Amino acid sequence: MISVIVPCFNEEEAIPLFFAEMEKIRKKVSHQFEYIFINDGSKDRTLEVLRDLSCTNKFVRYISFSRNFGKEAALYAGLQACEGDLVTVMDVDLQDPPELLPQMIEMIEISDIDCVGTRRSNRKGEPLIRNLFAKAFYHLINRISETEMVDGARDYRLMTRQMVDAVLELTEHNRFSKGLFSWVGFKTEYLSYENKERVAGKTSWSFWELFNYSIDGIINFSDVPLNIASFVGAFSCFISGVAMVFIIFRALLFGDPTAGWPSLVTIILFIGGVQLLCIGIIGKYIGKIFMETKKRPLYIVQETEKEVNRKVDLK
Ligand code: UDP
Ligand code: MG
Repeated sequence: MISVIVPCFNEEEAIPLFFAEMEKIRKKVSHQFEYIFINDGSKDRTLEVLRDLSCTNKFVRYISFSRNFGKEAALYAGLQACEGDLVTVMDVDLQDPPELLPQMIEMIEISDIDCVGTRRSNRKGEPLIRNLFAKAFYHLINRISETEMVDGARDYRLMTRQMVDAVLELTEHNRFSKGLFSWVGFKTEYLSYENKERVAGKTSWSFWELFNYSIDGIINFSDVPLNIASFVGAFSCFISGVAMVFIIFRALLFGDPTAGWPSLVTIILFIGGVQLLCIGIIGKYIGKIFMETKKRPLYIVQETEKEVNRKVDLK
């Protein structure tokens, strides 16, 4: 059986389109399918759409959160709930082309790989600034983190049960799925495809959200920023030590004409800035530790298809 996990946030228009496309694929392959839609606290009619869908189709399940917990939490909930031997995670906006699925299934079945990932060969149709930042992010994180992140890789992937179980063992609160999928290892191959635009609705990520998400990615998978803080500190200690010796000798040899106020002020400001920056970096990590130590659940479920089906049965 194949489990299809689909996080949805305000996607009332996209869900029927997605389901129709997927059904075409389902009929082409010989496998049994199980859909798990996760309603991530949508404010529109997403939940109603999902209820209807699961009432008419036995193999459609859904999990509805009590509020918006984010795509990462939704993915985790889906992975926990799914029962398939192969598991795929897909966006509902058809940016992850379902047409690739049969090929992905075949790749996993005929060879001994554990995961088929997908990557976009270009970022056509996306804002230029976003592309530049995305490039810079992947360049940076691959240099400072031991976990490899493939540029353009999507969350869209087909995994074996074994790999899903491994991902589920990572229960951390700050989730950066691209990194987690890569961190667990296993043999992964990538399929490339041309970027597609959303079929309906609009993206729920603003530039700043993506920016913060990338900072999360860096902090979750690397402690290099902390080392930078200590490096900058050590470096400025060294420089100021040398400067001090120089000034002392200059004063001894040539006397001390009172000058250098401006330079003094700039130096104080500079050092102050460096200190604040370093405290900020440390603070970021402490914030993460703080959230992690609370051990709050990653999501809270308000309703699943089981309750609704039971109500229908009682009637
Ligand atoms: N999504 C979600 N919770 C959120 C934001 C997004 O479940 O808080 C889902 C959304 O419904 C979609 C997928 O995550 O299925 C990808 O979102 P989107 O298309 O907005 O992101 P983009 O493709 O622009 O990166
Ligand atoms: Mg999208």
